[in-house]
Amino acid sequence: MYLSRGLYVFPNKHTIRRFMYDGEEATELPEITFEQQLIDFLEINLTPFNRLLDKLKAYTKENTTPDELLGVYRAIGYTAEIFCQEEPVYSFLLCTKLYVDSYDISSYEELFEHKDHAVEMLRDMVHTQNIFFTIADAYCRFEGTHEEKTTKAFLGRETIFKCQFEQVIAHTDVGTEMFQMTRPKLPYSRGYRFDNLPAYIWYIFLHAMEFDTSFSQCNYCGHFFKPKTKKKTRYCDRVRTEDGRTCKQIGPQQIYKFRLQHNELLIDYDRAINRNYRRVERYELKLGDEKQGKDLSYNDYADWLRELHSARIAFMSGELSEEEFKETIHQLD
Ligand SMILES: [Zn+2]
Repeated sequence: MYLSRGLYVFPNKHTIRRFMYDGEEATELPEITFEQQLIDFLEINLTPFNRLLDKLKAYTKENTTPDELLGVYRAIGYTAEIFCQEEPVYSFLLCTKLYVDSYDISSYEELFEHKDHAVEMLRDMVHTQNIFFTIADAYCRFEGTHEEKTTKAFLGRETIFKCQFEQVIAHTDVGTEMFQMTRPKLPYSRGYRFDNLPAYIWYIFLHAMEFDTSFSQCNYCGHFFKPKTKKKTRYCDRVRTEDGRTCKQIGPQQIYKFRLQHNELLIDYDRAINRNYRRVERYELKLGDEKQGKDLSYNDYADWLRELHSARIAFMSGELSEEEFKETIHQLD
């Protein structure tokens, strides 16, 4: 079997085993469930990363010398390498894609094109996060059974299913420890190879959504979580106060107070989410890429929604005035 650098993934009942194969050696990452990998990816704060990409993008042929451009190019490689050290899978895939796409650069012109291409590649990760943040948020917001929620959230999003994953059927006699470690019961084991981050996240997302795993969103802070028990819970265990109290401990009371005192505002808030979500849906269903009128992209919507979640907590804890909160609600009007 032909092996090349990539992330090799083997489903193992509810978890996946992941091997980073650099062309010579395979390193296994801790086993993880699909939902946990998805939640972990959706949690990364990419705002500073996006700002850095804007800066790198701003180096144009007119304002950059070849030496400076080399520096920029190195900065991109460095960014991919040090990205999110606590979960090396992202950095590994970013670097894999960079290596796959790199070719012998012999002129300033080519180096310049390659820089743009690399920046776009890193930006794909931001876009992927925004798409799945939007859909995961919609899924959690909808009421109903898992099937009903999934149907609603996936409606009109056929493009999600167009992603092709590279499947590998690994025989046990492949002389690589990685495949022997998967201990298949049959004389083969089924797995996937990924060389870029978006494809991996698409795969993770589709599998995370396949069964009802009580994938939830915290009613208080808006972050995603997987409840520890089967009992339905609407609040996560993230610590929210200096004395160590969690969303689960302070959330229900805060939300109750919020409903009681600001019911109108809450209705306004829910309406804004629905309204803007429909704008994204409409835009995504269009064939053309050009934005018109009230069209919203996943990026616009997801950025706003994250800000809205933070504004809501800030308002409930008294850090934000009603006026400021309203401004955030209507920011995209
Ligand atoms: Zn929470």
